[in-house]
Amino acid sequence: MGLLEANQDTMPRAAHPLSLGEIVENGLCIGCGLCRSIATPDAIEMVMTPEGRERPVARQALDRPTLMRINAVCPGTRIAGPPPARSGETTLMDTVWGPVERLVLGRAGDPSVRFIGSGGGVLTALGQFLLSSGRVKFVLHVAASHSQPMRSETRLSFDAASMLEGAGSRYGPAATLVDFGDILDRGEPFALIAKPCDITAVRNLARLDPRVDEYMRYALAFVCGGASDLSKSEQVLQRFGLAEDELALFRHRGHGNPGLNRIETRDGRAFELSYRQLWEDEDKWMIQPRCKICPDAIGQVADIAVSDAWLNGGPAVEDEALNGIIVRTRRGLELFDAAVETGALEIKRETGIAEISELQSHQVRKRRAVWARLKGMAIAGKPVPFVTDLALGDCALQNSLAENLAEGRGARDRAHRGRLGEPPAAPRKSRTVQSC
Ligand SMILES: Cc1cc2nc3c(=O)[nH]c(=O)nc-3n(C[C@H](O)[C@H](O)[C@H](O)COP(=O)(O)OP(=O)(O)OC[C@H]3O[C@@H](n4cnc5c(N)ncnc54)[C@H](O)[C@@H]3O)c2cc1C
Ligand code: SF4
Ligand code: SF4
Repeated sequence: MGLLEANQDTMPRAAHPLSLGEIVENGLCIGCGLCRSIATPDAIEMVMTPEGRERPVARQALDRPTLMRINAVCPGTRIAGPPPARSGETTLMDTVWGPVERLVLGRAGDPSVRFIGSGGGVLTALGQFLLSSGRVKFVLHVAASHSQPMRSETRLSFDAASMLEGAGSRYGPAATLVDFGDILDRGEPFALIAKPCDITAVRNLARLDPRVDEYMRYALAFVCGGASDLSKSEQVLQRFGLAEDELALFRHRGHGNPGLNRIETRDGRAFELSYRQLWEDEDKWMIQPRCKICPDAIGQVADIAVSDAWLNGGPAVEDEALNGIIVRTRRGLELFDAAVETGALEIKRETGIAEISELQSHQVRKRRAVWARLKGMAIAGKPVPFVTDLALGDCALQNSLAENLAEGRGARDRAHRGRLGEPPAAPRKSRTVQSC
């Protein structure tokens, strides 16, 4: 843990757990749904807000033990890096990138998986291999909703076909953990494929519930630039003059690398945007507030983290199917080696920290900026997450003093203006989703 980071706990959490409303309104919630799944039935509902975010709303007063439990597991209030004991002797520990057992460029062995998958289909191929090798009974991940294909919902995949249906990046909200209690109740070995913050949340829960370590055999993450509001996808519909209830398909990418944002309507029309067109205007990315202060968007607590790897300088053109694969734990290494051995994965070549830093320069910038951003928020009197074992202070030391001051002051000023927070969570009129 970095020295600077040791001072990061600015809120007296044990004495005053944050309420759900405080977590949301201070921009700390990412809508994972775990609080809903650990509270008593019907105590918390997930709603789609007018801004296009899935957020928890307490349907009854939550007692103090429940709030303490939520504060202990929520990835908005507690973010712990990998425990040092988990890594092996050969593990490289990079200040920015965290633990690395192996770092390669690779892809799915099956050509259809690598085509349909987001980059090179590595996560889908690993999920399929986990199932076919009998390592797990099912994989928890997300997929497009059948009834509302622009939205994402949790998916339990028991076979290769179902894994493939969930392939591709879903850039909008996704409450991956909304039913996590039910998943543990099944008492069967499973794997989780999800955002880094989702994995942070379940690792937090593992400290309270031993069933997580007993049944969750693998946690695989993608490297994550941030989750957009649903409004981002709604803008795309507006561009084509479409309404959500006309949709038969809404795919953000995949079917190529990166592939097109493709929309199909129930009456047979199709519309497409390139990845560049989808993301050309940064002011319209609509990234959720929690993402701007994300201390671990690179999946340090996953067994394997998978990134994009565009070797031609970015997603300007269709690139070869490829991923960066960061194997982080011994368990991840055993899985990776076995998947390569059976042909589920193909290695293109070894890579290293320098190349991955170049391919993911935005992640490096964020890792170096987050310590100062959190300090700025704390100075503005806002609650910040309790962060441990993520070397945030050491990352900040890679920035100049001027850069740290600029990040800190920027965050402080934005926090003062309320730009890092959110309105109280409330359902959209007549369009509540994922109510449970
Ligand atoms: C919001 C978001 C931001 C991203 N930002 C970056 C970035 O900055 N840098 C980078 O290198 N890569 C980023 N990616 C990851 C990248 O798009 C690929 O997903 C990743 O490289 C894995 O590719 P793949 O071909 O192995 O994935 P696939 O084989 O297509 O598998 C993707 C898996 O991820 C799951 N999944 C998709 N979306 C979500 C979601 N929103 N929440 C939970 N699970 C989901 C799917 O269920 C599927 O199992 C981002 C992805 C998302 C969804
Ligand atoms: S981040 Fe997850 S656990 Fe925390 S308040 Fe939001 S939905 Fe609940
Ligand atoms: S940037 Fe961080 S908080 Fe945002 S979705 Fe990705 S992992 Fe979660």
